[in-house]
Amino acid sequence: IKSGTEVIKKAKGKGKIAKGEVGGGSFQSMGLHPSLLRSLTLQGYRIPTPIQRLSIPSLLANPPKDLVGMARTGSGKTLAYIVPLIQRLGGRHSNTFGARALILIPTRELALQILKVGKELARGWHSRNGEHAGDKEAEDSKQGQNLRWGLVVGGEGMDEQFEMITTNPDIIIATPGRLLHLIVEMKLDLKSVQYVVFDEADRLFEMGFETALTEIIHRLQPCRQTLLFSATLPKSLVEFAKAGLQDPKLVRLDAES
Ligand code: ADP
Ligand code: MG
Repeated sequence: IKSGTEVIKKAKGKGKIAKGEVGGGSFQSMGLHPSLLRSLTLQGYRIPTPIQRLSIPSLLANPPKDLVGMARTGSGKTLAYIVPLIQRLGGRHSNTFGARALILIPTRELALQILKVGKELARGWHSRNGEHAGDKEAEDSKQGQNLRWGLVVGGEGMDEQFEMITTNPDIIIATPGRLLHLIVEMKLDLKSVQYVVFDEADRLFEMGFETALTEIIHRLQPCRQTLLFSATLPKSLVEFAKAGLQDPKLVRLDAES
């Protein structure tokens, strides 16, 4: 996207990528919290897909870096950003007011899918070694509360959505039109957002959300980690990424990956 941006392509036939570059080939070698590792296993995710192997370690590195991830549909892009997101938020609700993460996605159906995947992965964040504690209640009060997820999508009543916002979700999963509406009509403040994901970005653009997305980006703090995931990278998206992301790492997988 920019000159100097790291481009990683999976070498056809060779299939070998330098270890230091991608940070290991298993979920176990990524420095993930034991609860998250246990959830991944329980959900049947045993081996990370190439986009996950290339994205998760670099999204967890400090200082936080922006990333553009391009890989075909069905390659596992959701976990590539939701695993580091849950880990970065500490797996727990924060009482500080305002959402800490925002996921923008083109449709209500996709938003519901992401919500399901995220909630299942974040469940059971109980003890440090990842085991369920014997005294669950005591453990819960010690560890705090589960992450709160909020949906901001068309088809829900505005009053309900406003109610939801008052429950102080940590993560908002939103379609752009409805989110912008809440920002403008209900003065929803996104200043607390530190982690932003544009998922299915090519579809976001195909559905005509470019202007809404630009408006939304203007309401965010410049100091944030921004990610863009897409199956394709048309020129308009590259331009958008240049404007909205800071010197992003580009993880780009060829069609067969
Ligand atoms: P994309 O967003 O790239 O189209 P998804 O994130 O929707 O892909 O994942 C596609 C499918 O692959 C889902 O059914 C998901 O559960 C499954 N999947 C993702 N990662 C893994 C993994 N590491 N191991 C096994 N299945 C996976
Ligand atoms: Mg996807």
